[in-house]
Amino acid sequence: MKRNMIPHNLPTIGVEEEVAALRVLRSKQLSQDQEVELFENEFCDYLGLPHGSAVALSNGTSSLFMALETLEAKGKKILFPGYVCAALRHAVSMAGGIENTVDVEPNSPNLDMNAIKQNLPDISIIPHMYGIPIQIEVDDTMIIEDCCQALGAKVKNKMVGLQGDVAIFSFYATKLMTSGGQGGMFVSKNQEYVDAVRDYREFDYRNDSKTRFNFKMTDLQAAIGREQLKKLPDFLKRREEIFQYYKKAGLDLLDVPEEKNGILEPVRFRAILKTENPRHVIKSLDSIDVRAIVPTEDWELLGPQTSFPNGLKLSRETVSLPIYPSLTNEDLDHVLSGIVKK
Ligand SMILES: *Cc1c(COP(=O)(O)O)cnc(C)c1O
Repeated sequence: MKRNMIPHNLPTIGVEEEVAALRVLRSKQLSQDQEVELFENEFCDYLGLPHGSAVALSNGTSSLFMALETLEAKGKKILFPGYVCAALRHAVSMAGGIENTVDVEPNSPNLDMNAIKQNLPDISIIPHMYGIPIQIEVDDTMIIEDCCQALGAKVKNKMVGLQGDVAIFSFYATKLMTSGGQGGMFVSKNQEYVDAVRDYREFDYRNDSKTRFNFKMTDLQAAIGREQLKKLPDFLKRREEIFQYYKKAGLDLLDVPEEKNGILEPVRFRAILKTENPRHVIKSLDSIDVRAIVPTEDWELLGPQTSFPNGLKLSRETVSLPIYPSLTNEDLDHVLSGIVKK
């Protein structure tokens, strides 16, 4: 019997999302209304923030732009890792910030905190890469936590997104949950920042000359997002099981450093295999119809490769394996059969 191809990623969409989408479609209230506000407040509940602390937006990149705009990034020095997705560079450029890219820690996909002390940026964008959270211990810089890959991860028992001045999340199709393909959220404990983003989002019928923009989420997106948020704890549980299944089979996966166990609680956004020959692993998996990718390619590094030795090494020695809730244990065995043990 021929197996189906196992894609690298797949959203988990059920009948609940279909019903929610239909409800909104039939109501004919498609633009921003009640569903968005409900989604925002349920998201606050999940993070443990008071209602009104979250603003739903069109995607993660626009949320990051809003974060930068709110912290008045124009003309300021903005630090972020070079080993990350290009969305950060785009948002910084749009906000008129001055880019200051730095390396990640050795054997970690996360920013080297010492770089903040050495570079003294005005604002630092700190991503929790691949679901591995990072403990933020710096003063003297404004902090944007980029939680796009780490919704539900914890630092010292507190959800990521609560350590910095503001935080952003993404609900793109491949993230931990989706609001129907695209979507984002801005959160802050500081009500002034939240109000500023809300004001910016209300771009129409405004009797002043301030620049604003349409970064709205629709009710259709929010209704799907609400169903996904309910399922998120189950999604995260299954992802953890898959991660442990791979580990038990002997795979060397990128994880929280041992000395930080108990302090950092990851979510399993990605299963990143450490290997000296990524192309070989990808080819071998491809031959049995399993799709794996290099999670961040060396040419994707945001800045001169020579200044990011740790990021460069990571980009050349890692493969991202399928890890999403709908994979069965049989699928996992099939994936494992394509990875040649040394
Ligand atoms: C996905 C992602 C973004 C951008 O989110 P979009 O919703 O795709 O715009 C930003 N930062 C990180 C770390 C991401 O993974």
